[in-house]
Amino acid sequence: MIKLSKLKCNICGSEMDVPKCCDKSMIVKKGYLLCCCSEDCGYQPIPECCGKIMEYSEM
Ligand SMILES: [Zn+2]
Ligand SMILES: [Zn+2]
Repeated sequence: MIKLSKLKCNICGSEMDVPKCCDKSMIVKKGYLLCCCSEDCGYQPIPECCGKIMEYSEM
């Protein structure tokens, strides 16, 4: 099952694709983007827009 996930800014409305790791979209956990394969794989900060972190939305 393929889920399309986006990061969205609630202020200006801009959207971007969720970064990928191991060929899958990363998930948001504990305020970070994590690889869904393994928590050890790596994590990165959620991108910011308009001075706030972008909101994760699944469609
Ligand atoms: Zn914005
Ligand atoms: Zn990974």
